[in-house]
Amino acid sequence: MTATALRPPSHLFYQTRQRRPMLDRGEGIYLYDVDGNAYLDGSSGAMVANIGHSNPNVLNAMRRQMEKATFGYRLHFENEPAERLADETVKRMPPGLDRVFFVSGGSEAVESCIKLARQYALAVGQSERWKVISRFPSYHGSTLGALSLTGMATMSAPFAPMMREMPKIPAPTWYLDQDDLTPEERGLRYANMLRDRILQEGPQTVLAFIVEPVGGASTGALVAPDTYLPRIREICNEFGILLIYDEVMTGAGRTGKFLGGDHWPDAPPDIVALSKGFAAGYSPLGAMVAHRRLVEPVLNSGGFIHGYTYAGNPLACAAGLAVLEEIDRLQLVDRADRMGAILKGRLEALKQRYPFVGDVRGKGLLLAFELVADRDTMAPLPTELNAYIDLVEEAYARKLIIYSRRTRGGIAGDHFLVCPPMIINEAQIDEIMEKLTASLDAFADKAGLERLS
Ligand code: PMP
Repeated sequence: MTATALRPPSHLFYQTRQRRPMLDRGEGIYLYDVDGNAYLDGSSGAMVANIGHSNPNVLNAMRRQMEKATFGYRLHFENEPAERLADETVKRMPPGLDRVFFVSGGSEAVESCIKLARQYALAVGQSERWKVISRFPSYHGSTLGALSLTGMATMSAPFAPMMREMPKIPAPTWYLDQDDLTPEERGLRYANMLRDRILQEGPQTVLAFIVEPVGGASTGALVAPDTYLPRIREICNEFGILLIYDEVMTGAGRTGKFLGGDHWPDAPPDIVALSKGFAAGYSPLGAMVAHRRLVEPVLNSGGFIHGYTYAGNPLACAAGLAVLEEIDRLQLVDRADRMGAILKGRLEALKQRYPFVGDVRGKGLLLAFELVADRDTMAPLPTELNAYIDLVEEAYARKLIIYSRRTRGGIAGDHFLVCPPMIINEAQIDEIMEKLTASLDAFADKAGLERLS
C-alpha cells in the first residue's frame, strides 16, 4: 500500500506540508502514480510539458548525448548541442534577436535579461538608467531580482528589506472595466499608464519595461486589446527604454505562435526570456535571447558580468534541441492554435451551466476561466470559499490536473488555467471537460452556488 497518508514523513519540503501521490511515469498527456492511477495533465505541470511526457525522440536524443558527455564547463569547451540550439532558437525569433544566453530556468532567464539591460546602459554611457518597470499583478520569478519585478505582494512582502522594489503599473484588466470605452481605447489607456509612470520616475532613470505578452499564472491568461503592446513599444521607443518580453510561459508555441509576442508583430521586443516549454520538462533549461545591438557593446566593453555553472550544458541543450524538432515535426504551434480554439469554445460553454463562471480567456492553449459571484459586476466569490484551492482539489480527486491562483489587485478573483500539452486531441479535450464539469458540479453543490442543468 503506497497511499499518500501512509507514507512516512519526508525530509524534503516545498512551500507547505502537503503530500501528493508518488510519481511513477509519464506518457503523452498522462502522468501515472506508483499505484497505477492515471492523471490527465491538464496544465502541463506548471505550463511546462508542452510536447507531452516521455516523447521517445527527445529521450533518444538525450540518451545519445548522455553517452557522449553530459557536462563540459562553458569556459573550457564549446559544445555542439548548445551551438545548434542557439541557431535554432534564433531562427524562431523576431529579426535582430540573434544572441542567445542559456540558463537553467525562468527566474534565471529574467535575472539575465535585467542584468544585460543594465550592462548595456552602462556600456553606452547611460549609467543613470536602472529602474525596470513591471506590472501588477505579474509573476517573473522567485529569486530576489526577479521577485522585485513580480507584482504579487504576498510573495515579495517578507523580503522587502532585502530587495530594491521596482515601479509597477496596473496590468490591463480591461475586461473588468465598467466604462464606455471600446477595447481598443482601453488598451491604449492601460499602455499610457506606462508613459505616465516613466514621466513620474524620470525617463532618464528608466532602463526597461518587462511584460508577459499574454499573462500567465498571475493574471490567468490575460490578453490585452490589440492596441496595447504596439503602444507600449512606441512609448519605449520614445524614451529609449528597452522592452523585455517574459516568454517563460508563453514561449515555444503555447499561445499558437512561437512567441506570445508574435501575435503583435508591430511590437517586437529587445530581449526575450524563455524557459518552461523551451525544454518542455525534459531538462532544466531556459534562455535569454537579445538583440545584437545590446550584446555587442557589452562584449566590447569588458564582457557580460553574469553566468551560471550549468549554463549551456550539452545534455540540457540536446533536450531543448530535440524538443524544438518535435514541435516542428508534429506542427505543435499550429496544433496549439487549433486545439486551443476548440478547448476555449468548450470552456465558454461552461457559462451556460454555471452562472459563477465569469471570464474565459487566453490564446492558443494558454487558457483560463475565472469564477465570480456575479458575472455582471465581476464581483469575486467570497474568499472563505477558497475556490481556487477547492476546485483544483475536486479536479485532482477526479484525476484531472489544473492550475489555479487567486490574485488580488485588478483581477476579479479565483482563476484556473487549463493548458494541456499541445499534442492533445479532441477526444482528450472531451475527457478534460467531463472531469471538469463533474468537479464544478461538486464544487457548486458544496459552496451552495447555483447551477443550471
Ligand atoms: N516568468 C514567468 C512568466 C513564469 O511563469 C515563471 C514561472 N511560473 C517564471 C518567470 C519563473 O520561472 P522558474 O520558476 O522556472 O524560475
